Amino acid sequence: MSAIPGSGLISLINGFVDRAIGADGLTPRVRDKLLRQQLGSAARMAPAMLAASLVVSTVFLALTWQTSRFWPILAAVCAIIMIGAHGTYLAFARMPNRTEGPPRASVIRTIAYAALLGSLWGFVLYLLPVDQSPTMRGAVTIGVGGLVCVSTMALVHYPQALAAFFIPLIVGALSTVLSLGSLPDIWVLGTLLMGFTLIMVVVTLNHAAAFASYRASETLVREKSEIIGLLLREFEQSTSDWIWGFDADGAINRMSAGFTMATGVAEEALRGADFVHFLRCITPPDDPLMLHVERDVQKRQTFQDIELRVIADGRECWWALTGKPAFDEAGNYLGYVGTGSDVTERKIAERRITMLAHHDPLTGLLNRTKFTEQLGSCVARLERHGAPFSVMFLDLDQFKAVNDSRGHLAGDKVLVQIARRIQGLVRETDLAARLGGDEFAIILPNDSHAEGLGRLATRLIEEIKRPIAIEGDQVSVGVSIGIAMAPANGRLADEILRNADLALYRAKAAGRSVFRFFESQMDSEAQDRRLLEGELREAIQNDELVLFYQPQVSADDATPTGFEALIRWNHPVRGLILPAEFIPIAEHSNLIVDIGDWTIVEACRAAASWPEQLTVAVNLSAKHFRRSDIAMVVKRALAVSGLAAPRLEIEITEGLLMEDPDAIIGRLVEIRDLGVTIAMDDFGTGYSSLSHLLKFPFDKIKIDRSFVDASGDDEVARDFLKAIASLGKTLKLTITAEGVETRAQAQFLAGIACHQLQGFYFSQPLDHVALADYLLTHVPPLAPAVKAEAEARLSALAG
Ligand code: C2E
Ligand code: CA
Ligand code: CA
Repeated sequence: MSAIPGSGLISLINGFVDRAIGADGLTPRVRDKLLRQQLGSAARMAPAMLAASLVVSTVFLALTWQTSRFWPILAAVCAIIMIGAHGTYLAFARMPNRTEGPPRASVIRTIAYAALLGSLWGFVLYLLPVDQSPTMRGAVTIGVGGLVCVSTMALVHYPQALAAFFIPLIVGALSTVLSLGSLPDIWVLGTLLMGFTLIMVVVTLNHAAAFASYRASETLVREKSEIIGLLLREFEQSTSDWIWGFDADGAINRMSAGFTMATGVAEEALRGADFVHFLRCITPPDDPLMLHVERDVQKRQTFQDIELRVIADGRECWWALTGKPAFDEAGNYLGYVGTGSDVTERKIAERRITMLAHHDPLTGLLNRTKFTEQLGSCVARLERHGAPFSVMFLDLDQFKAVNDSRGHLAGDKVLVQIARRIQGLVRETDLAARLGGDEFAIILPNDSHAEGLGRLATRLIEEIKRPIAIEGDQVSVGVSIGIAMAPANGRLADEILRNADLALYRAKAAGRSVFRFFESQMDSEAQDRRLLEGELREAIQNDELVLFYQPQVSADDATPTGFEALIRWNHPVRGLILPAEFIPIAEHSNLIVDIGDWTIVEACRAAASWPEQLTVAVNLSAKHFRRSDIAMVVKRALAVSGLAAPRLEIEITEGLLMEDPDAIIGRLVEIRDLGVTIAMDDFGTGYSSLSHLLKFPFDKIKIDRSFVDASGDDEVARDFLKAIASLGKTLKLTITAEGVETRAQAQFLAGIACHQLQGFYFSQPLDHVALADYLLTHVPPLAPAVKAEAEARLSALAG
């Protein structure tokens, strides 16, 4: 601007005005924009200025018609009209270009035109002969007033131009006023002129300041929203997230393409819809997370990353939503804006991971970890709200046999089937778990009614027992169940688990496919068992274990054929304890190995001193058999005692043959190859005694005493005994009947051709003193050495 003459003054005025209207603090960009708006506003008023000029100049020309001033005034007025017309032309013809290019030329032109017009008008006023008539003075006063008013209105937003117009105009007007001869006129007109000019200046500056500030902030807001729009577009393009928003009434008013795509609903349908209602429609009823969102919206609170399960676009997915309430400067609520994203893939992955972490991969039931965790929650609910619950422990009977005989794949199939059956019987709220191997457990929340639990246990037993088809074969396994109820049987997780376990122990002890509730005495029994186990350990070292011998006699003439060794524990406090009480404890720990090994050696040693025709039978626990190298132990016992192998009998029960029969048969053959007799004990009580009999190399079967007992009045039992006896004949097995208590039984058994008999009718199990006496009196002919020893023992005892 400095290149143009007078531009120094212009920039001075510019600076002053900018300061006065507060435009000096604006950034160059905003100032530039404001300047364009000021120029535009001034340009738009150019026609008004032109019109005012035409009116005023016509009046002035008419009043000076035929005076010497007419021609110079006409010349000035023509210049004024031309400038006004050019200004008007520029304002409209160039309007579209108004915002383009630097506004500098416009500024200079506008100010220059304003100054030129002001000067021309000042010149016209100066020429007017105001002193000639009151009409002239009135016309000048009104004309000047009109011009001042119109120009003020036209240039009010651009005080610089107004100043450029005003200053020469006022100077001209003042000079006219001063040319009046009379002082009162000067004062009156001068005061009015200056007074209004001053007021105009103040009003104009105020108005311009308001305009500047309004327009500047408008520019800033527009710029900001442009930037925000840009950022949002950028955000949408660069991420998979989407944007949503709703107004103060909850109606959706903002949505990005991602949002409509995620919902699968058209934009027209979404716009204006109630956002919360829409979400409620696509989330499950009473979804706690949805309620959370609703609560937050109601309270106008921010919510962050709420992961909602929704049915959108016809499929189940998860959305993570973040929302923030919006308020204007006055604090009025405007609705919400927020973002969302589809997190379905991550959710599915998470679900799989939790599923794997919480479930048994084979059966899909809960695993032990999750079971323990759920039990903890039940205990906590019991503590807080007194909610009762129950725990069932299930242990499959003979599962290991299936696993061993048919392979692990078959075993797995059985487990899967059983898990399904369990799952099919429990309620949806019940928690079924596989704790490992063939152990299952069920937590029954809010349930502690013995009657219902008993019914469920019965159904479980029946259902699990049903045959399972495996590779074209039918497999059947039983289950034992122990039940503990909380709070009746305990309030702590450990306590409840231990008690359910005790109940299971009792169920298993009671036989197959039984359930038992926990009873308080089980706890003391368990303590007794623990105590006994400790004492049993010492009993072996303290020589408290003794063998009693029960005679086995020939069915023909009742002459003894041998003895069965039956163990007892000579307890220092409790006296004689029977094997039924401590053998299971020994089997539970590893003590059975030591006890079993000792029994074999001890029995062989004793038998070696008997007459040669007498055998000794030793009971072998299945657990002992599995954990010890029996063939080796037997070989060593025979060697140490010097007993001939055929004089030793090993009694095993069917239980031994349930698991891994191939390995067992191999080891039985090994023992049998030594010359030792193998007898099947308790024959008839197992499931498949006959099939075992055909598969295994038995020499002898011992018919269980329950059949002997029933033979008195039970025709079926008698038929069974007869069938067994004839089978024994066919298979060339020795048949022994146990538990013979009466003469009638003995006669019947002899009649059906049993070979050997054993029972109280012939003799109780004998301690070593009674045994010596028995040998002496019942075993003719006695070898002289044995007779001498027996007599010596008896006399020593008598002494
Ligand atoms: P088991 O092998 O069937 O032994 C026979 C049981 O029947 C013995 O009980 C015996 O006293 C009893 N008994 C014999 N005759 C009669 C009778 O006429 N009527 C009645 N009611 N009972 C009779 P015990 O000695 O209490 O032994 C019980 C079980 O303990 C045995 O049954 C056997 O399975 C086991 N057992 C005994 N000794 C040993 C041992 O040294 N090792 C192992 N592993 N188990 C043993
Ligand atoms: Ca036996
Ligand atoms: Ca028996």
